[in-house]
Amino acid sequence: MDKIKGSFYGFIVGDALGVPVEFYKREFLESHPITGMIANEQRNTTAGYWSDDTAMTLCTMKSIIELRKIDYRDIMEQFKLWILEGYMTAGDVCFGIGQRTLKALTFYNRETNNPTITKSFKNDNWIPLIGTLSESQNEKMTSGNGSLMRVLPVAYYLITSDLSLQEKIAIMHKVSAMTHSDDECVSSCIYYMCFINHLLKTNDILESFKLASNDVYNNYDVNVCGQLYRIINSKFWDLKIDEIKTTGYVIDTLEASLWCLYHSKNFKDAVLKAVNLGGDADTVGAITGSLAGIYYGYNSIPKKWVKSLMKKDMIDNIINDFLNIIEFSEKDHG
Ligand SMILES: [Mg+2]
Repeated sequence: MDKIKGSFYGFIVGDALGVPVEFYKREFLESHPITGMIANEQRNTTAGYWSDDTAMTLCTMKSIIELRKIDYRDIMEQFKLWILEGYMTAGDVCFGIGQRTLKALTFYNRETNNPTITKSFKNDNWIPLIGTLSESQNEKMTSGNGSLMRVLPVAYYLITSDLSLQEKIAIMHKVSAMTHSDDECVSSCIYYMCFINHLLKTNDILESFKLASNDVYNNYDVNVCGQLYRIINSKFWDLKIDEIKTTGYVIDTLEASLWCLYHSKNFKDAVLKAVNLGGDADTVGAITGSLAGIYYGYNSIPKKWVKSLMKKDMIDNIINDFLNIIEFSEKDHG
């Protein structure tokens, strides 16, 4: 449990470290590096302020805790509360929402409030409709990291369940597609889940990379992985820092996070490396933190960082409740 607990706190700490320098240029951070939690007056954020990545993750955890299952509609309802009422936020207001997520939730909200359409919105049959949003409006799909940043609880819920890998993949697919149905978004979420599963068991980064790549090769339609193969087929650990991109593109985020994890000596090193790459610093920080939290464990996370998190009591309670409901024994997983 120490590793899963470390993964959640690592995620939130990484998000909060990155918030003040989101969109900052790497060249600036090279001479003004982040070394701890700081405020950003321009963004109106205090030290320990976390963003949409954490808010959506907490909403998802809350839904799983309450319903003891993955309920797509309930998760969307929680996201609605987040947008409309600042539910599960650091500053009582929705902060940092991505365009694609906003569009999907606006569509969902409008359709589910339309009495003539509500009937067709039972179960999960509305999810494929979200995927048609961009096409119908002639928009190029941008494959952002907006689903990758919120699926950590889903990954743990599925990993610790008795479902087959095929079933886990099918559920993760739908969870991503609730807001991000592009092939690269969906396959990145699936890869992230598989990698976490193996990292928990082996605590070996390259072995986990190999095993997760095999999982995806053998259990997922290779034709729809798109650029995920850029990661699977390359040696990400050999990339130079200049080749690591921190745009909001999901493949870049996943690759940058794996790279930071591999090129680190401890938790602190991994997340600071991630946020100091600049760009989408909070999400790269969060994903890197979720992996470094597994690899180095909860106790490796600087206590003062955890202590400084906004609404720490709320976070503590949700993580505790979540850990209690997922059946997991680190002993069983070696
Ligand atoms: Mg964010």
